[in-house]
Amino acid sequence: MSLTWEAVIGLEVHCQLLVPQKLFCGCPTTFGGVPNARTCPVCLGLPGALPVLSREAVACALRVGAALECVTRATSIFARKHYFYPDLPKGYQITQYEAPLLEFGGLDIDTATGVRRIGIRRIHMEEDAGKSIHTDAGTLVDLNRAGVPLVEIVSDPDLRSADEAVAYLKALHEIVRFIGVCDGNMEEGSFRCDANVSIRPAGSPVLGTRTELKNLNTFKGVHRAIEYEIARHAHVLEEGGAVVQETRLWDDAAGRTRAMRGKEDAHDYRYFPEPDLPPLRVDADEIAAARASLPPLPAEIRRRYVEELGLTAYDAGVLTSEPALVRWYETALTHHRNAKGLCNWLTTELLGRVAVGELETCPVTPAGLAELVALIDDGTISGKIAKTVFDGMFESGESPGTLVETRGLRQVTDTAAIEAAVREVLEANPTQLAQFRAGKVTVRGFFVGQIMRRTGGTLNPARVNEVLDRLLAPTDNRPDES
Ligand SMILES: [Zn+2]
Repeated sequence: MSLTWEAVIGLEVHCQLLVPQKLFCGCPTTFGGVPNARTCPVCLGLPGALPVLSREAVACALRVGAALECVTRATSIFARKHYFYPDLPKGYQITQYEAPLLEFGGLDIDTATGVRRIGIRRIHMEEDAGKSIHTDAGTLVDLNRAGVPLVEIVSDPDLRSADEAVAYLKALHEIVRFIGVCDGNMEEGSFRCDANVSIRPAGSPVLGTRTELKNLNTFKGVHRAIEYEIARHAHVLEEGGAVVQETRLWDDAAGRTRAMRGKEDAHDYRYFPEPDLPPLRVDADEIAAARASLPPLPAEIRRRYVEELGLTAYDAGVLTSEPALVRWYETALTHHRNAKGLCNWLTTELLGRVAVGELETCPVTPAGLAELVALIDDGTISGKIAKTVFDGMFESGESPGTLVETRGLRQVTDTAAIEAAVREVLEANPTQLAQFRAGKVTVRGFFVGQIMRRTGGTLNPARVNEVLDRLLAPTDNRPDES
């Protein structure tokens, strides 16, 4: 008999806070650098050095809590979490255990069955460890990262599939970047995730034995690792075995997880309150300030783009993929309110040439693109000429208005001028005109092409069509066919 299994997944996300200094000392948090150059007695864990909490990091954590609708503890406690590792010089990590700063929040995600709220169990502050670098000559230790401020965001075990886990992770990744608390760089480890996975017979209220997956540093990796682990649990149980509670490492190249270390419970860490730090007290003003400082969140922006600007859900999704893109787009909108036109030019033409990160330094500015779209909208240039103008803007950084004037690209809408051009082409091609008159209507396309070519595409296409139809009509106004 084959059972239907239900997966139960919870994610723990470590998020590096975008603040200039470490959590308990003044050392810079910049990534990389000469190994061990960004250290001091505090983050080196030298005896007698005392930690001083960064209030800037606390303010940053409070913003995360506000965005995820958490309850803030007025008094939270830092604790020592003991374990021995070469890149942890003190022999313990300062974190929060029994009394975390933030709890009981939630995050809405889109799932196959609609929007679902995933509970956030807790968000606590902690310091990062250093880095061990394994070489042929031995293991080296770099403590530049030691003491860098993190928040760990722990979800409730509300996720039911790899798809849902990735949807949650992406939503979270988007939020921390939009509110400016984390750069979200997964490669450099500023946003990293562990997954707790278990399965149980569908409908059962009892939780199965879980395994914890580490080393998940891409969305794709998270998805594959969870799928793999669900299938592995099902296989073990269906063979009559038992899942072992353990930490497993995802091997992306091999496409499998492998056991890393055995069961680890909280008591192994011998947590106790950090005696060198007073309890962290946060007042109502700080919580209110965090809430007030939040910009609109991406889900809200998407809803507004669809409902108020009339964009498609797809376009709204593309525009909100990066905070920088939203800023650029909204600046352009203040100059010319054609939401769809600006979106098209930005996402297809401009982003076809530059990456989002290069927008700020790109010669095409939001005001410039808005001016270009306005010139199309008021009929000064055609969509086709606009591409030539856009090329010019990109190359010279000049404004579209200047380019249109200096290069003579202004669209001709004057009927007399258009008629003259059309007549000229008809007269220059008597053979084709005779063919048209004899019933070969496809020749009309040839005339349009000739007219546009001779005038460099500057004639208003709709007017050209009108005039051409009139001159080709078997009544008056025919050009002389002799
Ligand atoms: Zn330091």
